[in-house]
Amino acid sequence: MKYINFLFLSLLFLTACKSQTNEINYEVIKTDNEWREQLDQMSYLVLRKAYTERPYTGKYDNFYEKGTYHCAGCNEPLYKSNNKYNSFCGWPSFDKEINDKLVYDVDYKLGYPRTEIKCKKCGGHLGHVFSDGPKETTGIRHCVNSAALIFKKS
Ligand SMILES: [Zn+2]
Repeated sequence: MKYINFLFLSLLFLTACKSQTNEINYEVIKTDNEWREQLDQMSYLVLRKAYTERPYTGKYDNFYEKGTYHCAGCNEPLYKSNNKYNSFCGWPSFDKEINDKLVYDVDYKLGYPRTEIKCKKCGGHLGHVFSDGPKETTGIRHCVNSAALIFKKS
C-alpha cells in the first residue's frame, strides 16, 4: 500500500512539475570545474552528480539544533529545524521545505520512479521525497543528504 501511495505521489509530482523543471533557468549557474573547486568532494558528488551518502554517516543525521539548513551549493535557506524529525532512515529528514525553495523531478536510477528534490536556485541535488512522513503533520518525508546542506544556528 505504501508503495502504491508512493507511486501515486510520484506521478502527481511528475505531471505537476515535469514541465516546470524543464523550463527552469537556475539563478546560480557555474561550470562543472567551478563547482568542483568550490565544494568539498562529498558535497560536489551529491549536489552536482546526484550521489547519495551512505546512511547514518552524514553530519546532520543525528543533529537537532535550532536553526536553518541552507543549500551547500548556493547558500539558499531550504529547511527549518522545526521541520526536522528522526525518521530512523539514516539521513536527515524533514516534513516540509521552506516555501518555494525546491524543484521536483523524477529519477529512475533504482528501476522505479522516485521524486528527486533539487535546490531551486542552483539546481543542486538534495535527495528524494517519500510519502511515509509523519502523519500528524504533512505525511511527507524529505530525505536529504547532509552533504547538500549547511546548518546555520538561529
Ligand atoms: Zn542551491
